[in-house]
Amino acid sequence: MSAGGEDPRGRELAEALDRVRARIAGAARAADATVQPTLIAVTKFFPAADVVRLHRLGVRDVGENRDQEASAKAREVAELVPAPLAWHFVGQLQSNKAKSVVRYASWVHSVDRASLVTALGKAVLRHRDEAAAGQAPAGPCTEQDLTCLVQVSLDAEEHRGGVRPEDAVRLAEQIAATEGLRAGGVMAVAPLGAAAGPAFDRLRVVSEQLRQSLPEAAAISAGMSQDLEEAVARGATHVRVGSDILGPRPPVG
Ligand SMILES: *Cc1c(COP(=O)(O)O)cnc(C)c1O
Repeated sequence: MSAGGEDPRGRELAEALDRVRARIAGAARAADATVQPTLIAVTKFFPAADVVRLHRLGVRDVGENRDQEASAKAREVAELVPAPLAWHFVGQLQSNKAKSVVRYASWVHSVDRASLVTALGKAVLRHRDEAAAGQAPAGPCTEQDLTCLVQVSLDAEEHRGGVRPEDAVRLAEQIAATEGLRAGGVMAVAPLGAAAGPAFDRLRVVSEQLRQSLPEAAAISAGMSQDLEEAVARGATHVRVGSDILGPRPPVG
């Protein structure tokens, strides 16, 4: 295969991507999954040039966790690739960043509180007004509602990243009732120092409860480089993979 051409980094990414795609396909086969999970390549800390390389390799979904980095990268990439990419915001989000995020993101995976739902809804409507008035370029949310996932904490005791499982349905219903937003489903990160499988089982239970009131909110965003097999085995519809595609990230200082 000449997918990488003369570009060594392109070749490296092509090989890593092939390995990850094969792992996902293998896990989906083993689980008798009827749909292939969507692979989101998490490109945080890596340059726009890598996003362009991944796009050439067929990647259409990319994830980022910091607005400042993501908004600049999304602008840069938009000039370089013709077909649109879907940007997935997967990190902790301050409400005052909602305005910026809705300009490039199609999905926010990390919705964890009512005030953020309100801020995102307002930001989408305002962006639509500004785009209609020619004051801002159109973005994904001018065409479609912003897909929001409820981030669920799977920690046994402390609930840092995300809502408690018992609070997830209420937050999703608030999303569904907010103009400009679409309730897409649930997201989680496996707890540190505990087995991922049982945690993802708990996420699946939350997803089932959620679908009783919101059947279309069926996305389950779970699984990263280390635990994507466990997530796919438990019904993940979206896996978020960074380091096993792009390589190790620089240590955060
Ligand atoms: C960085 C990140 C990922 C990707 O993690 P890897 O271990 O590099 O695959 C997935 N999800 C979230 C929320 C992240 O911040």
